[in-house]
Amino acid sequence: MENILECKGLSKIYKNAIALSSVNLQVAKGRIVGLLGPNGSGKTTLVQLIPRFYDVTEGAVTVDGIDVRDVTMNSLRKNIGMVQQDVYLFWGTVAENIAYGKPDATREEIEEAAKMAGADEFICTLPDGYESYVGERGVKLSGGQKQRISIARVFLKNPPIIILDEATSNVDTRTELKIRDAMLKL
Ligand code: ADP
Ligand code: MG
Repeated sequence: MENILECKGLSKIYKNAIALSSVNLQVAKGRIVGLLGPNGSGKTTLVQLIPRFYDVTEGAVTVDGIDVRDVTMNSLRKNIGMVQQDVYLFWGTVAENIAYGKPDATREEIEEAAKMAGADEFICTLPDGYESYVGERGVKLSGGQKQRISIARVFLKNPPIIILDEATSNVDTRTELKIRDAMLKL
């Protein structure tokens, strides 16, 4: 069977608001699918059902024919890389934040991923470079800088499923094009 991500009859109801109703979608291995729609049309809701940030109200999300609720969170999330509009960085160094998802990565691999994500340049201007602390009490980074760290994580992890939800919303156009080219190669 061909590897496939499938949404079958998906509905998602938050409290009493219907966010998705009977959505069907198939994504074959190696394909890129874009979701278009106005604010509030349910794009974020749909993609968040894949790594199980929420569970479906009706229907199912399957990967290779297996319901995402039937595998462990660990195994599911090992196979998914996600970049969101609001990026969460934990208290640690830039290098540690990029290596999240591939803890045994070498420094070379981390820097390579950062370059592909257009992040290397600003990281090198931080007081301690890749060893600078970020997160709550760390170096203050802009939204676009945090997004690029999050994108570097995905490049480094190189998972079979990549979800980009307004992933470059805070990144300038030139950097965005660079990231897109690198992403297509990935
Ligand atoms: P999009 O990403 O397309 O802008 P969302 O998936 O964020 O759309 O939102 C779809 C609908 O679900 C909206 O009406 C939104 O207000 C609602 N919604 C999203 N997240 C929640 C939540 N955690 N609790 C309740 N309602 C939510
Ligand atoms: Mg959204």
